[in-house]
This record gives sequence, C-alpha cells and structure tokens, in this order.
Amino acid sequence: MSESITDKLFTIRFKCDDKSHLVIKEADTCEKCVTKDCNYFCPADVYDWNLKLKTTTVAYENCIECGTCRIACPPNNIEWVYPKGGYGMTYKYG
Ligand code: SF4
Ligand code: SF4
Repeated sequence: MSESITDKLFTIRFKCDDKSHLVIKEADTCEKCVTKDCNYFCPADVYDWNLKLKTTTVAYENCIECGTCRIACPPNNIEWVYPKGGYGMTYKYG
C-alpha cells in the first residue's frame, strides 16, 4: 500500500524559529485575490483564507521548504526567506 502525503510528512523533522520566514506582503491583495491559489498549491497546507478575519493565515511551522509559494502566488504577494541557520527542515533519507 502506498503512503499518503500526511504519512510522508511524518518522516521530516522541523526546528521552528519563532519568526515566520513566510510573509504576506499586502493583506489587501489577498482580499482582492479571487482564486486564493495558495490555499491549494501548498503541500503542507500552510496557507488558509480566514473568511471571518479577511486574512490569509500562515502556519509557517508546517512549511517543508518546497519553494512553490515563491513562484505560484499570481500577484507575487508572498515574501519567502530561508529560515535562519539551525532552523527549518531536516530530511531523512532511506
Ligand atoms: S494566492 Fe497570493 S494573493 Fe492570493 S490569497 Fe494567496 S497569498 Fe494572497
Ligand atoms: S515553501 Fe512549499 S511547503 Fe512551504 S509554505 Fe511554500 S508552498 Fe508551502
């Protein structure tokens, strides 16, 4: 039986910084964004449109640094920096 994405994510180790390495540049741009692509392209479900607060929430702790959001937000509204040294992802192979 093949493993689900969720199962595979359990094989990755994170060390979270207390400061997000993913920043929404302009809240207004998200409000005007019709397609909310970030809610669909992130494999780790980091982005979520909060209808009540009218904001995109960013669960940066779950980021697996795949880099998709650096290029996939249509108006380029996500600022992406590498996590500080010692923080972020550790991949286990095998
Ligand atoms: S795709 Fe980009 S502009 Fe649209 S909601 Fe997500 S972060 Fe905001
Ligand atoms: S780098 Fe990949 S996993 Fe991290 S927030 Fe962007 S799309 Fe999601």
